[in-house]
Amino acid sequence: NIERGKEWLQDYVDNWVNFYQKQTDEGKVANYIPRLEHADPNTLGISIIGKNGTIIRSGDTDSEFSIQSISKVLSFIVACMERGLTYVLQRVDVEPTGESFNSIMHLEINQPKKPFNPLVNSGAITISSLLKGKTSDQKLEPLYQLLEKILGHRPEIDVDVYVSERDTSMRNRAIGYYLLEEGYLESDLSITLETYFKHCSLNVTVDDLAMIGLVLSNDGIHPNTDETLIPKQIARVAKSLMLTCGMYDASGKFASYVGIPAKSGVSGGILAVVPPRVREQDLPFIEGCGIGVFGPALDKQGNSIAGIKLLRHIANQWDLSLF
Ligand code: GLU
Repeated sequence: NIERGKEWLQDYVDNWVNFYQKQTDEGKVANYIPRLEHADPNTLGISIIGKNGTIIRSGDTDSEFSIQSISKVLSFIVACMERGLTYVLQRVDVEPTGESFNSIMHLEINQPKKPFNPLVNSGAITISSLLKGKTSDQKLEPLYQLLEKILGHRPEIDVDVYVSERDTSMRNRAIGYYLLEEGYLESDLSITLETYFKHCSLNVTVDDLAMIGLVLSNDGIHPNTDETLIPKQIARVAKSLMLTCGMYDASGKFASYVGIPAKSGVSGGILAVVPPRVREQDLPFIEGCGIGVFGPALDKQGNSIAGIKLLRHIANQWDLSLF
């Protein structure tokens, strides 16, 4: 009985959201972008959208928050769609750094000489420079259009977050100048940074993240319209990057203990992708699903503290790991 199944899943998720919501004590809301400090550290919400149409939503699913680093997955995808995978991967590598997302150190040591991967700031800023268009709005138009097709609505920038980051982000400027000096950037530095700050400030909900995850799970095809929004090969590289580099310098632990591609952001969001599995048992979301989580209290690596615990719990219980 499917309805009973859904009820059971819903109760299960409600219980654990309730439980982990109270476990945010050692976590801290990001404040290096001043506007992010306003978030309530005890918030926790999750949305799980399955290919078979099952939707489980629990906790705070209404809050909008800035997408931050999760947008790096999308800018990478759009750059690959515009320029081709080979062109992009000649300019940005696909190796984890083991350093924090905004580290400058590793830029000098990587061989071959290029930013380590598109999900750390140096790689993402380089990707922003590769997006076609003269102004930041022109560069981002294809990304907005992709999101509009995935979500059914056009995403909007949180102007306060954008201005707050634009006016404070000295580290990203430093990275930008280094990239400029090394000849990595293919457009003007200030336009490149503006593009980067803008896509980090896009407002989303956990449902939006779950829908993005669902399309990635389905190899770039929107399950409701059957339209191919992202070429399979690009979706595949995006997911492997998420698995190896998506959870900051805790990506190895996340892959070991949760085992699914995911990308987090400093506002407390996590986008996770559960690919379809070939199994005998009738496990939940056997056909794949997308998961969006929001919990702004972060652990030392910058990942949502309650979000990780909740995902780990659900993934173990429902056997979601790829491995
Ligand atoms: N806009 C943020 C920054 O560049 C994104 C960082 C993140 O979410 O990891 O610092």
